[in-house]
Amino acid sequence: MSSPAIVNLWMLLVCCILIAVKGGWDEEVGLLRRGGKQRQFDYFKLALQWPGTYCRKTRHCCSSNACCSRSNSPSVFTIHGLWTEYNDGTWPSCCSGRPFDQKEISTLLEPMRKYWPSLSCSSPRSCHHKKGPFWGHEWEKHGTCAYPVVLDEYEFFLTTLNVYFKYNVTEVLFEAGYVPSDSEKYPLGGIISSIQNAFHTTPELVCSGDALEELRICFYKNFEPRDCAHDTSSRGSCPQYVSLPAHGSWGFRSNTTAAS
Ligand code: 5GP
Repeated sequence: MSSPAIVNLWMLLVCCILIAVKGGWDEEVGLLRRGGKQRQFDYFKLALQWPGTYCRKTRHCCSSNACCSRSNSPSVFTIHGLWTEYNDGTWPSCCSGRPFDQKEISTLLEPMRKYWPSLSCSSPRSCHHKKGPFWGHEWEKHGTCAYPVVLDEYEFFLTTLNVYFKYNVTEVLFEAGYVPSDSEKYPLGGIISSIQNAFHTTPELVCSGDALEELRICFYKNFEPRDCAHDTSSRGSCPQYVSLPAHGSWGFRSNTTAAS
């Protein structure tokens, strides 16, 4: 075989190898570029919080805390975050990505304020050690690790809102009779079954005392529901009977603007 023919054959071989590995290679390069040394996550966890429970911790008020505006404080599960998880029960955090910029989500602010409010006066630290808004913390700590499923900040918040609306936990529980009350206690098994029947997945629950504080649902990367990592108990910190405190039944000093 002539030497130009051998060179051509080599080039063809190299092209074939590049095409064959391109998909995986793109992802790896993307992850290294966007996610530092962390390996790609396995699944998503949507964490929802029950304001009636969370707001009971409020002792002081500030304008950024939705617990403090009693008139429009939410009586639905609101979003805590969309987290990336590994199957072994650990998770990546603070992957590399652009720092939070509220301008990027200016068109989403109305639903964000309503369904993803901060229920705290504290300004959490971002991955860059600066204190900032709750949304910035969620994007930088968790959202940046959702690459390549979620490409940027806008897509992260939009995707989370869409998943939240599609899997309407509040509606499912209210329809099953699990409604806000300061006197009723509900069987935890009933709450878990309602979610299982509606979404074919077992939720993870977190309580504060006997009050339900968080409900979390897991998803494959295509946002089909799946169970969370099998070694975490769905019952979490909850007793057999739990309450869903009505919002506004907590006590805080509404005449102060100091941060809690
Ligand atoms: P994460 O649980 O997402 O890793 O961290 C939540 C951080 O945000 C904490 O530092 C917490 O103090 C702060 N934070 C601000 N607003 C809220 C809120 O509404 N709910 C929760 N769970 N944390 C909040």
